[in-house]
Amino acid sequence: MIIDLEDKRNSAKCPVCKKKSVAQYRPFCSSRCADIDLSKWLNGNYSVPILEMSEADLDELESAVNGKEFLEREDKV
Ligand SMILES: [Zn+2]
Repeated sequence: MIIDLEDKRNSAKCPVCKKKSVAQYRPFCSSRCADIDLSKWLNGNYSVPILEMSEADLDELESAVNGKEFLEREDKV
């Protein structure tokens, strides 16, 4: 089972250079590719219209980032 999961993880491809991704830098193959991807985001080279996100989208994003916190909040309600 564990070996199975590891296998799937290792078969993923780096979205930057399409090489095999490394678990340590998942989903990238190296810290370099992770940096490249990050700088692409920062430079706005991705076509995701972040500035055009609706408030609901931002809420969703926020809850995804603070997933744990969000669930705890839901529990109390
Ligand atoms: Zn890469």
